[in-house]
Amino acid sequence: MAIPFIDLQAQRQRLGQPLEDAILHVIRSGAYIMGPEVAAFERALGAFGQAPFVLSCGSGTEALQLPLMAWNIGPGDAVFCPSFTFAATAEVMPLVGASPVFVDVLPDTCNLDPAKLEAAIQAVQAAGELTPRAIIAVDLFGQPADYPAISAIAQKYGLKLIADSAQGFGCTLNGHHPLHWADVTTTSFFPAKPLGCYGDGGAVLCKDERLHDLLVSLRVHGQAVKSDIAGRTFDHDPKYLNMRVGMNSRMDTVQAAVLLQKLTIFEDEIRARNVVADRYAAGLAGLVKVPRVIDGGVSVWAQYTIETHDRDGLIAHLKAAEIPTAVYYPIPIHKQEVYSRYPTPGGLPVSEALAERVMSLPMHPYLSADMQDQIIAAIGAFIRRNG
Ligand SMILES: *Cc1c(COP(=O)(O)O)cnc(C)c1O
Repeated sequence: MAIPFIDLQAQRQRLGQPLEDAILHVIRSGAYIMGPEVAAFERALGAFGQAPFVLSCGSGTEALQLPLMAWNIGPGDAVFCPSFTFAATAEVMPLVGASPVFVDVLPDTCNLDPAKLEAAIQAVQAAGELTPRAIIAVDLFGQPADYPAISAIAQKYGLKLIADSAQGFGCTLNGHHPLHWADVTTTSFFPAKPLGCYGDGGAVLCKDERLHDLLVSLRVHGQAVKSDIAGRTFDHDPKYLNMRVGMNSRMDTVQAAVLLQKLTIFEDEIRARNVVADRYAAGLAGLVKVPRVIDGGVSVWAQYTIETHDRDGLIAHLKAAEIPTAVYYPIPIHKQEVYSRYPTPGGLPVSEALAERVMSLPMHPYLSADMQDQIIAAIGAFIRRNG
């Protein structure tokens, strides 16, 4: 049997008829946009993620853009982020007119390096061209960034902190979700993410009611919200009062219905992913560099990413054995032509080295021990033959 890189069909079969009934229910109800499942899902996600306020939205990218808009981050502003990540993390800064400032990552966890972050903030302050406003930490491959250290730096320099948890939603550090330290957590429900739907979707989780209210407004064209309307009377329906320039970033009801079903098994899936990760770690130790999770952290293992010096050789060997692999990410963002003009204070040697060495193995909660043993054996055969 072919080994899938991510097995969404096994999950669909497990969820069974209730999942299909939930979708059919929305189709028959006619409430395709902002139906009752959307608010129910926002409540359920908040309960799962220890978040008082949740905004569902159109994608993980828009989930990152919306708080930047709410904080009026724009031209002349700097937002610090890793370069060894998916493009969306850095893309939202130019989208609002601001500048990403790329910061290197730690070689073992692949997440933002707090010492380099502080040095980059000081370098931007000294250059005097951009105003530091925010930090986007990424929970790359599913594991939490070093939030205690990063949030202390955010506080010291008066910066907002976003946890880009598109790959890491559900991860914890010392028992806390990233929102414990961050101003907002954002996530993506792209199908291949650990918590995915059957299309595009995203969410912004926060602790501040006023911020949430602003995000609600921005999500639907800057519509008047509670805090705009309070104490005022209107001649017209305030629904068509546009208080600010926003966008359209609604999550559709079908996706909320799918996510409500998937959330019921998510905790169990995270446990299963950790069993798979432990089996890889035991089987691959000494053959390749296996991932290290920050002390006190629990990863949701969006990817199981190893490092090896003959990456191309190993990928080809596994491909011949019908074992799929992927490279996240072959080009750090600051090396992409369109991002090459943004600051990289101090350089990013770790990100550049990782991009040449990393490769990800099949990882999902339904990967059988048999299949995993085939993968481990194939890697072992290659390494023993090629050193
Ligand atoms: C997937 C991803 C995003 C963007 O999510 P979309 O829903 O695809 O827009 C943002 N950041 C990271 C780290 C991601 O992996």
